[in-house]
Amino acid sequence: MNKLYLIKYGEIALKGKNRYMFEDALLRNIRRSIQKIGSFKITKEQGRILVEPKDGQYDEQEVIDKLTKVFGIIGICPVIKVDTLDFESILECLLNYMQETYEDQTLTFKVEARRSNKSYPLTSLDIARQAGAYLLNHMPNLTVDVHKPQIRVWIELRNSVYIYSEIIPGLGGMPVGTNGKAMLLLSGGIDSPVAGWMIAKRGVAIEGVYFHSHPYTSDRAKEKVVELGRKLSVYTGNFKLHVVPFTEIQMAIYEKCPHAQLTIIMRRIMMQIAEKIALKQEANALITGESIGQVASQTIESLVVTNAVCSMPIFRPLVGFDKQEIVDISEKIDTYETSILPYEDCCTIFVAKHPQTKPKLENILQSEQALENIDQMIEKAIANTEVLLVK
Ligand code: ATP
Ligand code: MG
Repeated sequence: MNKLYLIKYGEIALKGKNRYMFEDALLRNIRRSIQKIGSFKITKEQGRILVEPKDGQYDEQEVIDKLTKVFGIIGICPVIKVDTLDFESILECLLNYMQETYEDQTLTFKVEARRSNKSYPLTSLDIARQAGAYLLNHMPNLTVDVHKPQIRVWIELRNSVYIYSEIIPGLGGMPVGTNGKAMLLLSGGIDSPVAGWMIAKRGVAIEGVYFHSHPYTSDRAKEKVVELGRKLSVYTGNFKLHVVPFTEIQMAIYEKCPHAQLTIIMRRIMMQIAEKIALKQEANALITGESIGQVASQTIESLVVTNAVCSMPIFRPLVGFDKQEIVDISEKIDTYETSILPYEDCCTIFVAKHPQTKPKLENILQSEQALENIDQMIEKAIANTEVLLVK
């Protein structure tokens, strides 16, 4: 029996004329995710994608692990393919499959049939009924339960016939690259990687920008951010990370601005730089890991003052999440262990004891006047930005 994987996708099937674009992107992303672990033929077939191993040189669990990290997939079904539409042969293959898979287990089952080939002489209902009766006759360990079966056995009649009884859930979302690009402000914390992951899940390609304050933040702090980029790249493909030297600007803010406003002014400058880099990279939005009220710089008043500095939309997918909800996702996507490594970040070093929680834009603009040559400093930081391709 020929084993392969039938990939089900959800939302993208609804996209009308754009459907082919979405399917092609999903197909490319699937290929990218498994190309290093075996040799596969990947094809489209009437609302499904098929992944067919060309030989036995692959680890089934590894293939499934990779596919469960590709956005746009809602289910992965290990299937057997029957190359004839002859109904007797289909029944024989079905029996063979069921005997191999469920040997002597006592189980209730139901057969579900679907045919996209409408000229086939049997209707879906006929196929399901006859196949169910056939299995009952040949496998005494099975009984039918049409309401709450322990297993559902699917027969899909397309150009070939596919039989399966297991649907491994995928992540859903949309294929990365089908919804433009955004620039993620990636710190070493728990929140921003999760924020980036959530936007990428909607099909958005992402790049990262990290503000590094050497020597106040160590190489290990930077390595940690690179590692987070690598963890995201499992979902997004290669991850481009822009490392911006931030020390000079941070020192200037520290020396010239009221300490209660350090964080908010720093955040505004980060946003400006991130926006400029985003424009160059043809990204149309920024992403941060902010959540309302989590810290002083994330009150509504602070978010308003931060927004005022740039015109690009800022996506904050975690805005309504509690910390524990964010932690749960970071564990699920495997960034948590890296995020909690103890290396300092620039915000923890240059932080005020009593930061303002309700900053007013006019006061902040007033304080920023003290940063006379900030525009040159920003240009210099961008010019000296290091670009890494993490994979
Ligand atoms: P995180 O866990 O993502 O670090 P946080 O709760 O620690 O978030 P802040 O430190 O206030 O929050 O930062 C808010 C957001 O600003 C971060 O989620 C991130 O998007 C961005 N940010 C903060 N510091 C940096 C940095 N050094 N480089 C890039 N982005 C940063
Ligand atoms: Mg942080």
